[in-house]
Amino acid sequence: MKELQATAHSLFRKGRELRMWVKELRDETGVGHMLVFGEPSDGCLVRIHSRCLYGDAIGSDDCDCGPELALAMDMIQDEGGQGVMIYLEQEGRGEGLEFKAMGLHVGEQTGADTFDAYRILGHPEDSRTYDHAAAALADLGLRSIRLMTNNGDKVRAVENAGLVVKAVPLETEPRSERAARYMAAKAKRRSAYSQLPRSNR
Ligand SMILES: [Zn+2]
Repeated sequence: MKELQATAHSLFRKGRELRMWVKELRDETGVGHMLVFGEPSDGCLVRIHSRCLYGDAIGSDDCDCGPELALAMDMIQDEGGQGVMIYLEQEGRGEGLEFKAMGLHVGEQTGADTFDAYRILGHPEDSRTYDHAAAALADLGLRSIRLMTNNGDKVRAVENAGLVVKAVPLETEPRSERAARYMAAKAKRRSAYSQLPRSNR
């Protein structure tokens, strides 16, 4: 994929200048944006981040999305401004903000964690897909990346697009008791999931 020259510009963050360009991602599996910083090459840092309005935009203490996004950007900056940030419009694990709020409501009423709350409401625990993000990384000509994630689904999606992936865990401190419970629920579901045969995932 050639750099989209018409979108290339500088961005200042934490007092430092980054060069970047942008590509909109849109296919039948989803919508989002790819922000390409510097001139990323094989082994570069990549974050695939799903939108969380509460965590990313209004500073909620209830989840780790905002700190993860900020840490991933810090890491890209610390590598001389080389890397890729893919921001996907998959709020509420793909179900949307209104449904996510319904899940929080059920959680408050029943004590269910976020995954059980989705099930109680008759929706899948996680309906996000990463295929369009993975395809965009392959289109950049990358053959290997370091993916900043704690989520094996993202690693597998990028590997399925033919790239070699090294996972780099994002370690953030929970900012509240509620965030700690949320992060523990995520870790538990992910390890249970990774033990399932692929056909059952
Ligand atoms: Zn969040």
